[in-house]
Amino acid sequence: MSAPKLKAPRGTFDVLGEQASVRSALEASARAILEGAGYERIETPAFEATELFARGVGESTDIVRKEMFTFTDEAGRSLTLRPEGTAPVCRAYVEHGMHKRRQPVKLWYLSSFFRHERAQAGRYRQFWQVGAEALGSDDPALDAESIALLVELLQAVGVTGARLRLSSLGSAETRGEYRELLKSHLRANEGSLSEDVRSRIELNPLRAFDSDHEGTRRVMEAAPRLLEHLNDDDAEHFSQVRELLEVANVAYEVDSTLVRGLDYYARTVFELTSDSLGAQSGVGGGGRYDGLVEQLGGPPTPGVGWAAGVERMMLAGDLQPGAVAPVELFVAFEQPRSRRIAFGILAEARSAGLRAQMELGGRSPKGQLGYANALGAHYVAIVDGEATMLRDLEGGGRERIATDTVVHAVLRGLRTL
Ligand code: ATP
Ligand code: MG
Repeated sequence: MSAPKLKAPRGTFDVLGEQASVRSALEASARAILEGAGYERIETPAFEATELFARGVGESTDIVRKEMFTFTDEAGRSLTLRPEGTAPVCRAYVEHGMHKRRQPVKLWYLSSFFRHERAQAGRYRQFWQVGAEALGSDDPALDAESIALLVELLQAVGVTGARLRLSSLGSAETRGEYRELLKSHLRANEGSLSEDVRSRIELNPLRAFDSDHEGTRRVMEAAPRLLEHLNDDDAEHFSQVRELLEVANVAYEVDSTLVRGLDYYARTVFELTSDSLGAQSGVGGGGRYDGLVEQLGGPPTPGVGWAAGVERMMLAGDLQPGAVAPVELFVAFEQPRSRRIAFGILAEARSAGLRAQMELGGRSPKGQLGYANALGAHYVAIVDGEATMLRDLEGGGRERIATDTVVHAVLRGLRTL
């Protein structure tokens, strides 16, 4: 009896062939756009101390409450597969003393993240995000630039008709005052709220705006709005972000019900959605997180950033797999005793910079030719001891030459094209 087949775990997937090629194209777009704007690549570990997310993302959030893959190491320390990238980047900013560099420090990543979710189209347990974080400045132009870069990335990967919703959550103090207002509104209407929202009135009343429960929605329509309670500084900051987005021709809608699922946001928040994605419509989102670095033990440091889902960008976009670079030389051989010589030519061709392959599957001479054709090889060298038949599959023609001149002949042939 054969061993049972194993499958990739629920909510995960393998990246193969065309998918891999589309991902490379997406990564190239992200790199060109973000590095062009002064963002440097950063990669943080796939797992971190659980405390980073508990403190950074917030105990009351869905992510920390129910979506984290957490485990204990041999020393009894609690570790968590990263569910998001902002807290780790801020941890790295503090750990490497990046506040001593010229500010703002701009960092981007393309990494995989892990959330224990109900797997469905566009929602996985291991997924990838492109993210951009800019730390060390509270200039509203940094918010506007960050948003404009996300919009540019979506355009570059062919996500058309995405909606940009924008709001401001104000400062921690305003939010504190506003929370009290909102809590009284929720308590006054407790009977109409969903179980989930009711149980979180104290913990996270703002999340009630995200609910799709009928009764809750009606209550929220009449709820006071944070945007109307911003202090003068925050209102001015928000109005400048908006003005700068207009200067950059970035279309947006102000949405006073927008609350993001992470606790660290202050001031600017935004989300991009695409109707072509169905129920999982979020393509990317982010905002300002001026208190986060300090909360993680660093100096008071403002920051703003976003993350966009790679799979959702691929679903909503129209990136095509890149063309595979053609094989310039395929090295075939008549007799098994010539395999050694063929292998030497392969090595020589590669050091000369040719895209070369050789027969590695034990095919007959005829089979080797068919294979070279299928690969779209330009030249095939059929090695037979000291002599080689060099065939130009693209231009036609064949020539019998000394085996040790094959690479030279191919280089000459390619150059004169
Ligand atoms: P959603 O509302 O879809 O749960 P979210 O608010 O949890 O999204 P963020 O934490 O803002 O998402 O993450 C940014 C982006 O990462 C999302 O806009 C989405 O494109 C992508 N994303 C989030 N969770 C997943 C997932 N489980 N699978 C695939 N992509 C995801
Ligand atoms: Mg989510």
